[in-house]
Amino acid sequence: MGDAHASATGELPALRRAIVDPSAIRENVAHVASLVAPAAVMAVVKADGYGHGALTAARAALEGGAERLGVADVDEALALRAAGIQAPVLAWLHGHDPSFGEAVEHGISVGVSTRLQLERAVEAGTTTRPALVHLKIDTGLGRNGLQKAEWEPVFEAAGDAIASGRIRLEGLFSHLSNADDEEDRAQLDAFLEAEQLLRSLGADPGIRHLASTAGALRLPETRLDLVRLGIGAYGLSPFDDATSAELGLRPAMRLESRLFSVKRVAAGTGVSYGYTYRTDRDTWLGLVPLGYADGIPRHVSNTGSVRVGDQVHRIVGRVAMDQFVVDLGEHEAQVGDRVVLFGDAERGEPTANDWARAASTINYEIVTRLGRRVKRVTA
Ligand SMILES: *Cc1c(COP(=O)(O)O)cnc(C)c1O
Repeated sequence: MGDAHASATGELPALRRAIVDPSAIRENVAHVASLVAPAAVMAVVKADGYGHGALTAARAALEGGAERLGVADVDEALALRAAGIQAPVLAWLHGHDPSFGEAVEHGISVGVSTRLQLERAVEAGTTTRPALVHLKIDTGLGRNGLQKAEWEPVFEAAGDAIASGRIRLEGLFSHLSNADDEEDRAQLDAFLEAEQLLRSLGADPGIRHLASTAGALRLPETRLDLVRLGIGAYGLSPFDDATSAELGLRPAMRLESRLFSVKRVAAGTGVSYGYTYRTDRDTWLGLVPLGYADGIPRHVSNTGSVRVGDQVHRIVGRVAMDQFVVDLGEHEAQVGDRVVLFGDAERGEPTANDWARAASTINYEIVTRLGRRVKRVTA
């Protein structure tokens, strides 16, 4: 098999490659956008686009019809601006002593979760260039956002700030726990209560948003004016009981490498640190040059699987920092054979969900934790 992707980008084959397909992101966003319309889509590209590359993800999502972008912190938003992204961007996570001067300068909207953040937004805004604010309320998740007792006083303060012309209220938002549908509906009720309160104080809430991927797909009443689409944009399912394909999504990342060693060993051979695996027959072992430093969870030792050529083989022995071993059985694979760690089930590849299951975690963690040595390549 030729090294099509590497040659397509004119690069030498890398030891470890995450191949990101922007067309999958574009199509996933377009699919969800049509599903949730008339609600709009904000594509969430925090944490380097969930490990896919923030810029690649942002551009593809905007092409797919996302109207806005969302990130955790202002630095992530500034990086998008520095790369020429002009679409509206919202950043909602700020440190203990926030300052929003740069956000205002670059037209970045800020999520305001505390009175201090509101004051800082007012300080940063001017009447010619008001701070763009989305008020964030805690409707039950228990993370950031104004607690219920703070709604009225902070909404009143926000009203004064709006009247001063130093902030513009762009939106009101909250985040669901996805504990179950009933809990999420209770959060929606709390949200609507806050909206009414804000309106009764004379302020227009602007864009109301509550749902992330899970709510957007499963609980239509939570779509409101906009959904914040994270994991779904990357083609991964937020649900244990639904695959990407069942949701009409296509995984945008394939993690691959090549065998760098293949050897025949006798029955009873101990494999990797601590000999947590011993071969029970003569067999072929293949070595793959990714380890926990590359984001391969040590928890997949003896449980995960990868595809070598056209066969799926189990990871055996402990995952080390830089490499792991697969038991190839009687598959006489060759040094240099392609190994797909995860990709698209529709192509017969293991998935990020398979990895998540093997490591007792979620697919979000599998894609976002890939290490720096893994080279991102655009398909
Ligand atoms: C990360 C995040 C999202 C995206 O969630 P997904 O489950 O990936 O769709 C949405 N909103 C907020 C506030 C987030 O932090």
